[in-house]
Amino acid sequence: MKRLFSTLVLLFPVFCHAAQPDWQQVEKDALQTLVDLIRLDTSQPAGNEHLAASYLARRFEALDIPWKVYEPVPGRTSIVARLKGNGSKRPILLLGHTDVVTVERENWTFDPFGGEVSDGKIFGRGAADDKGIVAGSFAVMAALKKSGVVLDRDVIFLGVADEEAGGTLGITYMVENHLQDIQAEFALNEGGRGYIDPATGQYVNFYISTAEKTPRRARLVVHGVAGHGSVPTRDNAIGVLSTAVSRLFHTPLPMELNETTRTFFHRLSLSRPKAEADVYRAILAPNPSLEVQEQLRDINPSYFSIIRTSVVPTIIEGGYQRNVIPSAAEATLDIRALPGTDPEVMFEAIAGIINDPRVEILPMKVTRPAHLPAPLSTELFAAFEEVIRNRHPEAVVLPSMLTGATDSAQLRSVGIPSYGFGPGLVMGDDNGVHGNDEYLRVEPYYEYVRMLWDILNRVAVAG
Ligand SMILES: [Zn+2]
Repeated sequence: MKRLFSTLVLLFPVFCHAAQPDWQQVEKDALQTLVDLIRLDTSQPAGNEHLAASYLARRFEALDIPWKVYEPVPGRTSIVARLKGNGSKRPILLLGHTDVVTVERENWTFDPFGGEVSDGKIFGRGAADDKGIVAGSFAVMAALKKSGVVLDRDVIFLGVADEEAGGTLGITYMVENHLQDIQAEFALNEGGRGYIDPATGQYVNFYISTAEKTPRRARLVVHGVAGHGSVPTRDNAIGVLSTAVSRLFHTPLPMELNETTRTFFHRLSLSRPKAEADVYRAILAPNPSLEVQEQLRDINPSYFSIIRTSVVPTIIEGGYQRNVIPSAAEATLDIRALPGTDPEVMFEAIAGIINDPRVEILPMKVTRPAHLPAPLSTELFAAFEEVIRNRHPEAVVLPSMLTGATDSAQLRSVGIPSYGFGPGLVMGDDNGVHGNDEYLRVEPYYEYVRMLWDILNRVAVAG
């Protein structure tokens, strides 16, 4: 029996897992690809993502991996490449965006488009958001291709334009016009990361984002009667508006948990010090008081956001002269809706809190579609847990909800569960995302590439 087993292993080793690639070579290549991508200026609003798309097309061509580009308007190019599997499972999609936000060059120590490697960090706009993920995904596609391993599903690479402006010319265009080219059982995207303890160098936890809130901005408009500033009228537009804003500021919408946030707080309650864990346990109990919710906000304001649809006033305007009551005043609300929120019901609840018919609520344009969280029951999520447990047994895996928005919204809205997974950060680091001297640490980047390799071996290599 034992003998038969070893004979089988000898006969079919290639089907079990891909042989480990030459990691030195893969790392060198992953680093060079990231540096090359940083050197291409794909900053918004111009984008010019065709620079990144043609670079990647050349690289895929050299590997003999079929690719295709998509250009809704000149220069705003997205690219798809596909490693064919045997079709026994549905494809997996590796998504990253090739555009970056603009830079204030004078505030940078490093050339934002230089890709300089210094002190164990790769500096440049896009290093952390999101060219590291694009380059890492490319490196793993290349390693899979070179290994010659049999895949039981297609591995699709998608480098999209225009994420930083909401995805209209990138992911939205792809989903609306070329869904068949990116259709997958599930996807990996930005939005997740590991956190490294600076004292021990070990990973403390890994955030895998499985949900995000949907931006739903609105304007509040009040019209009153203009008049002399010496006469206190009851319908003063500024007074009526500021009362409405104040009510929204003091009365948060009711809290609500979903599978992601429930698991998130549960796992935190098992791994954090007692005083903090008590707050998480109280949040998970039925009907937590507002006081408990405030304790959660004390720990981290974003935890207060992920348990509710948040309504945050960001702009207030009205008046032009100190002795004139203006005829109108206006405020802008940055509303971030929980997944599954019905906008009509949400605006009714907001109107209920304002409780004043003189305040008009005008919803603004929506750039990210409503969608549901990615489930924790997929083969891909199980692979995250397994790979992290194997490589970093001390780390806690935390399915998490982002307060901000990513291209995962568009994928999830068409039924492709999308998971955020990315390179690690040292706790307390400001890695300059959207700011100055953005960087990615080299070692966590390499570790990300190795983990991505392990994950794809679990979910896409024929076994
Ligand atoms: Zn990004």
